This record gives sequence, C-alpha cells and structure tokens, in this order.
Amino acid sequence: MILQTSPLANYLSNRTAIDEAVHRVLSAGRYILGEETGAFERQFADYIGVPYAVGVGNGTEAIHLALRALGIGTGDEVITVSHTAVATVAAVEMCGAAPALVDIRPESYTLDPVLLEQARSVRTKAIVPVHLYGQPCAMEEILAFARKRGLWVVEDCAQSHGALYRGQRTGSFGHAAAFSFYPTKNLGCLGDGGAVTTRDPSLFEKLRRLRQYGWDEIRTSRLPGWNSRLDELQAALLRVKLARLEEDNQRRIQIARAYHESLCRIPEITLPSPTSETVHVYHQYVVRCAEHSVRNRLMAYLSTVGIQTAVHYPVPIHLQPAYVDRLSGSRSLPVTEDICPKIISLPMFPELTNEEVGQVVEAVASFFSRSL
Ligand SMILES: *Cc1c(COP(=O)(O)O)cnc(C)c1O
Repeated sequence: MILQTSPLANYLSNRTAIDEAVHRVLSAGRYILGEETGAFERQFADYIGVPYAVGVGNGTEAIHLALRALGIGTGDEVITVSHTAVATVAAVEMCGAAPALVDIRPESYTLDPVLLEQARSVRTKAIVPVHLYGQPCAMEEILAFARKRGLWVVEDCAQSHGALYRGQRTGSFGHAAAFSFYPTKNLGCLGDGGAVTTRDPSLFEKLRRLRQYGWDEIRTSRLPGWNSRLDELQAALLRVKLARLEEDNQRRIQIARAYHESLCRIPEITLPSPTSETVHVYHQYVVRCAEHSVRNRLMAYLSTVGIQTAVHYPVPIHLQPAYVDRLSGSRSLPVTEDICPKIISLPMFPELTNEEVGQVVEAVASFFSRSL
C-alpha cells in the first residue's frame, strides 16, 4: 500500500535524534514551558524571519489566540474562506466573532481578493487568509485591502511552513500568523502543537499571557486567559524536525515536479499551478477531475491498485451541518462548491520513494487511458 501521508515514516527517518530528544526532556524534569520551548520559539521565529514566536497547544488555538490578542471578540466579523480545514472557522467562532466566508481562485485554491469588498461589513475586523495546500495566498492584494480598510490580518499557515511569497516566508506578512504542528503537517510533532508568529512586541507579550491563564511575570492574571501551551517534549522534537524542514520541503517539491512532468500529459485532469512569485511547499498535491463521478472512480481505482488518496476537503464549511445557513457571506460560493466534488489529494510526503511516485503516475495514466 502506498499511503497518502505518513507521519510514521517521518519519525523513522529521524528516529535516533527524536529518541535522544525525548530522553533528554524526560530526564530534565521540566515538562511545560521550559528551555526546549524557549529554544524552539527562537529558532522557529528566526526561520520564519520575524522576531517572535509563541508556542501554543495546537493550530486552532494559534488562530484563536492571535485573534483574541488583536482584540477581536463578540460582535466582530472575520473574513476567511470556506475551502479550508474546519479549524480555521471554528477558531474564529472560539473568540466569539462571526466568520464571513468568501470564495477562492480556482487556479490556486486560495482566497480571491477581488471578493473582499463585498464580504466586508461595518463589523469586519480581520482577514484570515489560508495558504492552503502549501500555496501562498495573493498577499499583496490582501494586505493592501486590509491596510486601506484598517483590518487586521492573521495568516493561517497550518499548511505552509517554509512556503515563500516574493522571497519572503508565509507567517511574516500578517499582524500575526498561526501554525499547526499536527503530525502530518510539513513541520509536524508527535502529538498536538502550534505557534503564533508576529513582529509586534506588545502582541508577543499578550500572547504569552493569553496562553497561560493571563499570567504576568509574577503569576498574576491581569487579563483573562486560557491554557494553550506547547509542551517540552513536542518542542524538543520540533527542534529536530525544524532542522530537516528545508530538506523535507525540497523533497516534496521534487515529488510535485515528478508528478507534474508525467501527469501534464493527461488532459482530463487539472494540476496545481504555482506562480513565479511563490514557492509552493506541497503540503498536499491536489489534482482536479472534470467531473465528480470521474473523481470518485479514479479514487476507487487507485485504492484497488494499492494507492491511498484523500479529499481535502469534501464538503465546504458553509455546507456542513454545524454551519449551514448560519454564516454570513456564504449564500453562494460557486468556485468552492464546484471544485470540492472534483478534487483528489495524491500521496505526498517526503519519504515517498521515486519508485512509488512512478507507480502513482502510472496508475493515474492507466485509469484515464482505460476509461477513454
Ligand atoms: C491543521 C489545520 C488547522 C488546525 O490545526 P490543529 O493543530 O489541528 O488545531 C488550521 N487550519 C488549517 C488550514 C489546517 O490545515
């Protein structure tokens, strides 16, 4: 079986260093907010190219706390996309704000900045652009709109660790940015983890308090907070994985290139189309069929020949039972609704071998040559 993703393979390829890190932490006797977390935060901030990073419990909390730190709450609206992980929208609601969902560009699967104006209301306070699948959003347009209208920008970087927009890392553009270290992400720990990056020292201080009961240096709560901390074990092994992130991303890009070279000969599918101004880090390699039924038959065929695939995401958030008919701005999102039934995520993780990549492209090609 060729898996669609494999956090186990990533652990095994870093096994010695990770096991050493785990033993180091267990023996050090400090398990929450110690030296490992501090060191990881500094290294991660350096990598992203900002002065500050704050380790938190997971990616959803990272978005939630970033919005909270910016003062967003009940009565406010936050613009984001419907084509994303539910976590993005759940995090907006966690701070009491209402998500206003907008459509995406079909070629990048990311927020279409042209639609921002019509999604805006007097209550709009922030935009959460999602660099979905590892492809950076059109940040120049989004930032220009936010500046003009006085809105905050919190990037959702849960799938874009290391991705570049005009030579600069995602996570360094917004007032704050949220990362997830869920095990399958490009930078993943072996449990839950997340971080917020920012250039703003006062936001940094606020985030450090919000993640731990609102405590200041003398453990007095000067503002109401939560408990959302990155633990020492996860931080220690994230330091191991961070040192490998560039190499892992390069391998993902190499796999994407191999997919592209073979699959571009199949006219029935649309491939990812990175632009010259971005470096896509392929958290997912998503191809699009012309029809829903073809997508489903392709998935079923690949499964019978031992190739696991996935759909990210099968149902747009504004059509899911928890949200349907409840969110503003989402009466009709034609591009999102059109692409969801047609997309498929092929196997993508750094440890895939060239041989396995070859098997995937052969299987996809043979499906289309047979079904003609
Ligand atoms: C994974 C993910 C999140 C949430 O991260 P968790 O660590 O699972 O809470 C948020 N947004 C996007 C786009 C994601 O892929």
